[in-house]
Amino acid sequence: MRLVTNKKFSKEEFDKRLRFKTEPVKKINAKMQDVALDLVAAMYKLNAIGLAANQVGLKVRLCVLDPASLTGKRMPIVMFNPEFVEHGEEMYESPEVCLSLPELGIQVPRFRNVVVKFLGIDGKEYIIKDDNSLLASVIQHEIDHLDGILMIDRLREEFPISYKNPNVEGE
Ligand SMILES: [Zn+2]
Repeated sequence: MRLVTNKKFSKEEFDKRLRFKTEPVKKINAKMQDVALDLVAAMYKLNAIGLAANQVGLKVRLCVLDPASLTGKRMPIVMFNPEFVEHGEEMYESPEVCLSLPELGIQVPRFRNVVVKFLGIDGKEYIIKDDNSLLASVIQHEIDHLDGILMIDRLREEFPISYKNPNVEGE
């Protein structure tokens, strides 16, 4: 699983993989379960608390998260086809970083409270209601990825980013 970052890809390639809306998963079969487990493993390897499938070049609507891992305890959540059911009115500035945009740390406006539904790795539907915790912002960050939206798009003013790092050319 090769991470798609603005440092490793040209703008065209970066946009092709990260700016497109991912496709919902029709059937959660053994193959898709393996993809999800690979994504979970990649997330831990990268020391991340969330990873969306298109960040590693896959077009499927799948993300994995584990904000609890920051405390040293692993509690991975696999979300196939996540969708918001509702969100509160109140917003706050969430401090965020993104594996796809390395070396960038920004304050992103996010909803404090979200309710999201998704299919778990077992194919059953789950609903998570999250009030005012890190999980709420991670869910919003990852679902944004699946919709082709990056955290810089949430800023009110346009934010310049470089797409290619000549130092990793030919890697
Ligand atoms: Zn990200």
